[in-house]
Amino acid sequence: MKNFDAIVIGAGQAGPPLAARMVEAGMQVALVERDLLGGTCVNYGCMPTKALVASARTAHVVRQAAHWGMVPNGPVQVDMPAVKARASKVSKDARDNLERWLGGMEGLTLIRGHARLEDAHTVRVGTEALTAPRIILNVGARTLVPPTLPGLDRVQYLTSSSILELEEVPDHLLIIGGSYIGLEFAQMYRRFGAQVTIVERSPRLLPREDADISEAIQDILEAEGIEILTGAACIGVAPHPEGIALHLDGQTGEPAAIGSHLLVAAGRRPNTDGLGLDSAGVATDSRGYITVDDKLATNVPGIWALGDCNGRGAFTHTSYNDFEILAANLLDNENRRLHQRIPAYALYIDPPLGRAGMTEAQAHEAGHKLLVSKRPMSRVGRAIEKGETQGFMKVIADAETQQILGAAILGVEGDEAIHGLLDAMSAGNPYPVLRWAVPVHPTVSELIPTLLLGLKPEK
Ligand SMILES: Cc1cc2nc3c(=O)[nH]c(=O)nc-3n(C[C@H](O)[C@H](O)[C@H](O)COP(=O)(O)OP(=O)(O)OC[C@H]3O[C@@H](n4cnc5c(N)ncnc54)[C@H](O)[C@@H]3O)c2cc1C
Repeated sequence: MKNFDAIVIGAGQAGPPLAARMVEAGMQVALVERDLLGGTCVNYGCMPTKALVASARTAHVVRQAAHWGMVPNGPVQVDMPAVKARASKVSKDARDNLERWLGGMEGLTLIRGHARLEDAHTVRVGTEALTAPRIILNVGARTLVPPTLPGLDRVQYLTSSSILELEEVPDHLLIIGGSYIGLEFAQMYRRFGAQVTIVERSPRLLPREDADISEAIQDILEAEGIEILTGAACIGVAPHPEGIALHLDGQTGEPAAIGSHLLVAAGRRPNTDGLGLDSAGVATDSRGYITVDDKLATNVPGIWALGDCNGRGAFTHTSYNDFEILAANLLDNENRRLHQRIPAYALYIDPPLGRAGMTEAQAHEAGHKLLVSKRPMSRVGRAIEKGETQGFMKVIADAETQQILGAAILGVEGDEAIHGLLDAMSAGNPYPVLRWAVPVHPTVSELIPTLLLGLKPEK
C-alpha cells in the first residue's frame, strides 16, 4: 500500500496541470496513465487532426492557385506518408515535452497502467494499491461504436484514432456521422483526393447548431464534391465485392454508396467502464458520464471528475478549465463554479466555424426576447481581399438586458475572431460597449462593432 495526498487518474488535459499545482502546494501526488501522456488532444484529437487539416488546406490552396493569380508547376500530389509523419511529429513533440515536464517533477509519482477504484480512497494499478484522501478522475472518452448498427460487425471500420494511422488516401471514404469529427475528416480527405460520402441520421448536419449554420456548412462541403446524405433513419453497412456497401434502410436494397473505407464518427462515450466506480459508490448518468456538481465534485466526498468524462464539456479548453476551477477552489481558496463558463468551441473545417454562447434556438427555448444581426462574409473586407468569402457572422442579444447571448462566425478566421465576442460576454459587457471599440483594419474582427450595430428585433 502506497499513501499519497492525491491520486490523479488520467494524464489528459486536466490531470497533469492539476497534479503540478498540487505538487507545488507541497502534496505527494500519484498520476496514473494507461496509454500515452497527453490523452486524446495531444495523441488522437486536436493536435494531429489540426496538423492534417493544415496539410489538406495546402493541397486545396495549391489546386485553386489560379484563383489568386498563381500558376502551380504541375498537379498537386499528396504524399500521404509525409502528411502522416508531419502530424505524428506534432503529437510526439508535445508528448515528449510533457514527458520531460512530468518526469522531472519532484513530489510527483508517474505510474503507468490501468487504474481501478477499490473504494473511495483506494486505487489499484496492477499489483499496486494506492491510497489518498483525494482522488481526481480525468479519464476522458473514446469513440462510440453504435452497438446496434446493422452490419458493423461484418465490415472493417476506422475510428477517429485508427484513421490517423492511414498512409494511403482511400478511394472512397464513407463516414457515419455528420457532426464535428466526421465533418473535419470529410473535408480533409476530400482535399487529399478521396471521394467522400457522409451519412447522418438527423435531417441536417450538426443538428445542435442553428439551421442556417447547418445549411451553409452543407453548401461549403458539397461545393467541394462531398456527398451528404441526411435523414438516414436506418443506416446499415455490409461487405461488398468492391468494398463496403452503405445502406439507408438497414442492409437491404441497392446501396446508397459503396466505399473503400468506413469511418465511424457517431459520437463519443466516457472511459468510465472498468474504472471501479461502483466499488467506490461514484454515481454516473445513464450514458456512463460521472455526475458532478457545480464544483466538479462527485457524490462521494474526496472524489472529483474533470474533463470529457463528466459530460459537462467535450473540448480541450473545457477540460483545462475544469482543472482551473478545481485548482482555484482547492488551492487558492476561491469559489469558482462550472456554470460561470460560457460554452465556446470551433469546428475546423475550412473556413472554420467559431461559436460562443447560445444558439438562436436555445435562446428562444430559454424565453429570451431576441435581437439578431447577420452579415455575409462577402461583405467583410478582409475576406474579400483574401478571396475567401464563404459563410456569415451572426450575433444574438437579449432585447431587454442588451447582453450578448451567442455568436457564430462561419468564415475565414472565424475561430479567432469569435474571441472578440466571447471576451465581451465573459466580461459581462452589454453589446453597446463594443460599438465604441476601434478595431484594427483590415481584420474580420473589425466587423464586430458593425455587426452589433445591426442588431434588430427578430422578424
Ligand atoms: C478527432 C478529434 C478531434 C478533436 N479536436 C478538438 C479540437 O480541435 N479542439 C478541442 O478543444 N477539442 C477537440 N477534441 C476533443 C479533445 O481532444 C478532448 O475534449 C480532450 O482531449 C479531453 O481531455 P480530457 O482531459 O477530458 O481527456 P483525455 O485527453 O481523453 O485524457 C484521458 C486520459 O485518461 C487515460 N485513462 C482513461 N482511463 C484510465 C484508467 N482507468 N487508468 C489510467 N488512465 C486512464 C486515457 O488513456 C487518457 O490518456 C477532439 C477530439 C477528437 C477525438
